[in-house]
Amino acid sequence: MIDSTGGKRLEIRRTICQICKCDCGILAEIENGKIVRVRGDPENPNNRGKLCIKGLNSFRTVYHPDRIKKPLMNVGERGNPQWKEISWKKALDIIAEKLKEIKEDGMEESLVFLHGPTGRILDRSMVKRFAYAFGTPNITGSWSYCVGPKVLASKLVFGFPFPTGDFLNSRLILLWGTNPVVSKFHRYHGIVEDIITARKNGAKIVVIDPRKSETAKISDMHLKIRPGSDVYLALGLINRILEKKLYDAEFISRHVSGFEKLEKFVSDFTPEYVESFTDIPAETVEEVAELLGTIKPAVIDRREGILHNINGFQTARAIAILSAITGNVDIPGGTIFNPSLRINDITLKELLPDNKRTFWYERHPLASDCSGILSDVILSEKPYRIRVLVIFKSNPLLTLPNTGKLIEAFRKLDLIVTHEIFLTETCNYSDIVLPSSTFYEKAEIDAVPLKKLRWVRVRRRVIDPAGEAKSEAEFMIELARRLGYGDLFPFRNEDEILKELLKGTEVEDYPLEDLERGVLLEYEVGFYRKNGFPTPTGKIELFPETLVEMGMEELKPITRRDDSKYPYLLITGARSMPYYHSQFRNIENLRKMLPEPVAEVGRMIAEERGISDGDLIRIKTSTGEIEIKAGVSDEIHESTVSIPHGWKECNANFLVDDTAVEPLSGAPMYRGIRCDVRRV
Ligand code: SF4
Repeated sequence: MIDSTGGKRLEIRRTICQICKCDCGILAEIENGKIVRVRGDPENPNNRGKLCIKGLNSFRTVYHPDRIKKPLMNVGERGNPQWKEISWKKALDIIAEKLKEIKEDGMEESLVFLHGPTGRILDRSMVKRFAYAFGTPNITGSWSYCVGPKVLASKLVFGFPFPTGDFLNSRLILLWGTNPVVSKFHRYHGIVEDIITARKNGAKIVVIDPRKSETAKISDMHLKIRPGSDVYLALGLINRILEKKLYDAEFISRHVSGFEKLEKFVSDFTPEYVESFTDIPAETVEEVAELLGTIKPAVIDRREGILHNINGFQTARAIAILSAITGNVDIPGGTIFNPSLRINDITLKELLPDNKRTFWYERHPLASDCSGILSDVILSEKPYRIRVLVIFKSNPLLTLPNTGKLIEAFRKLDLIVTHEIFLTETCNYSDIVLPSSTFYEKAEIDAVPLKKLRWVRVRRRVIDPAGEAKSEAEFMIELARRLGYGDLFPFRNEDEILKELLKGTEVEDYPLEDLERGVLLEYEVGFYRKNGFPTPTGKIELFPETLVEMGMEELKPITRRDDSKYPYLLITGARSMPYYHSQFRNIENLRKMLPEPVAEVGRMIAEERGISDGDLIRIKTSTGEIEIKAGVSDEIHESTVSIPHGWKECNANFLVDDTAVEPLSGAPMYRGIRCDVRRV
């Protein structure tokens, strides 16, 4: 579209932000083929014209002077690189030669693809298509260390992996381990606005978080829970709801299986017992149970804050059970199930031989990926040797647990290839770095689940890629051709891939131009109540059949012993508005907002260790230690220290143990880690 406002003729192109999973609509103003400004798309029901500070600055990445524009080969050492520019042809030849070698050795699964959280449907489908054509099942990403435990719990209990909440129509909203005011600015089509409106309409907001977060500050009740103890609270709430008969007996009799077994697992979790683990007063446990059992509709939104510990799956499962036994499922104002568009599977999975198992299958058979154990697998060569790692826009040396061990593992690999926009810490340990397209420079589909509306949009590139940057799809297609699989990748352009992905869907016949604006699709709240839940029994399964078959149906926390050497608790990964994980420290406008990392230190630690604001502190765990500046806070649980992640200056993941993982999903324990804190 052309806009002549302000006397300038600008081309305005519609696109989708692909930084975080909110997928906000963007209008990019383009002059002479260059983006000069971006703003939120007012027609987009997701962000309704708004963009966060990252989205508003996103085009600065495109034109940043440090952007990688050509393939680079490391002619120095891993960790101490010297870069030499090479052609794409040469880079692809080197990679293809190594892949041919491992193919000849019959070690196809020793090729691992690792992607960051920004990849979506088109990118990932093409990477999988290449992987399966080559013969490796190993495509791992951020799933297990992001939402893995709760997606698995929802899939097993409800039969539906991505429930969401109808916050707007709710009368009681429990926000558990989530800070949507910062982390989910636009998601769910204005989750924060919906929560604020619901509150104005009389809904009660309860926040459960070790920190008095920005969201806790606008709530009616804040439970400052001890990090990592959420499972005890969830089981305690179930205990009170059963004891006081506050459950929805009619809903349970029609739609829930396993209710009769529940009592046995929660009878010990009295409010006093729960208090001893969580620091939540027994009377508060009673009060919240009473609210949950008497106010309807209610929605419990649980997020990453509760998942990244050894009990992450059981916590998510217990919270799903709370929603189910109070009958707050598949009703307006409750937990709802919005089926996302079923995209055509173009991954050619049928090409993968049946005997090829992922590197995590033996340890975590229900996990859909498992990046956190990668260093252990590489070093132990169990279940098999890993030789080549191809990384797409991910910075595992800042984001995966136990950085020290990962560096050691990286040194063991035959070849590391990283496809990136900037030279990251991970690039410094790579052999080849390839220039990658930004989201403005490539196509994608937004049909991501977890949203309140059923909404599908297509993005097409709005500018040409800078330098020699290529998308994941282009990289995979060219590599496939080098290896003789070109006939499996017949796509001549991105539109052909988009059309293939949309084949057989409800929007197959829509022109791509219409899909760029987005199409709202219908769905019905109450569908599963009417037709049965998509589990093996058609009911919500409190003790899922899959777990029963595996002998793992017990609803029981793993209790970790106190350790006097490490008397405090550590949370890593607190979100900050200008950054997304390890990204954007190099964008000047954003860096100015938060120039350096600061640890939030609980009052008790500060008093016991004589720490004041601005002091340099050393945080030590059984895995490692780092130094960081302190900020003493009364807003965080008193014996807890919270540190942001993604900073190379004080990498939080030197402190995280990669072997302490949640048993079913393989999620690492980023929160509730035992630590010691000293003033330097
Ligand atoms: S919330 Fe910000 S980063 Fe996330 S998609 Fe929207 S504009 Fe992009």
